[in-house]
Amino acid sequence: MGNLFQIRNNFQDHGIINFTPQEVINTGADLRDVKLTTMYCLQQVRTGLNRRIHLLRNGLTTGNHVSPEHPNGEAVDFHLDFKDGPVTPDTIRLLRVLAIRAEFNGLGFYFNGVAYSFHLDLRPIERYAEWKGTKDSPGAGSWKIQTIIGNTANIFA
Ligand SMILES: [Zn+2]
Repeated sequence: MGNLFQIRNNFQDHGIINFTPQEVINTGADLRDVKLTTMYCLQQVRTGLNRRIHLLRNGLTTGNHVSPEHPNGEAVDFHLDFKDGPVTPDTIRLLRVLAIRAEFNGLGFYFNGVAYSFHLDLRPIERYAEWKGTKDSPGAGSWKIQTIIGNTANIFA
């Protein structure tokens, strides 16, 4: 399928209209290491959600992650721009539907008590998983991870 370096001057031609090579590089990633499919699928989510998505620093191939899809260039961590409105249960529900439709098979929903962030990855369907991560406070050390079965309704209520 190729990597982002191969299309570095042609993101738009590949339908990736809301993300730039520089945004990817700013996460710490090398364009060569990120699968084109990852950003293509994220663009589907971005378009359906119609909200700005900010890639997190070390949210692509760099940083420490449990999911092997990160170093493989098949996972992305991001948050939504607060200027586009609050993240509500409906926002999360729509994000989930769009992510599944875009064929992401690993879906993580995180809330640190103040802000939401999200993980999507392209693991094989056989390992399909959804989970939520919470913290008692933004400064708390590690995430408490819980599996979600089938829906996200009020998971952070
Ligand atoms: Zn992640």
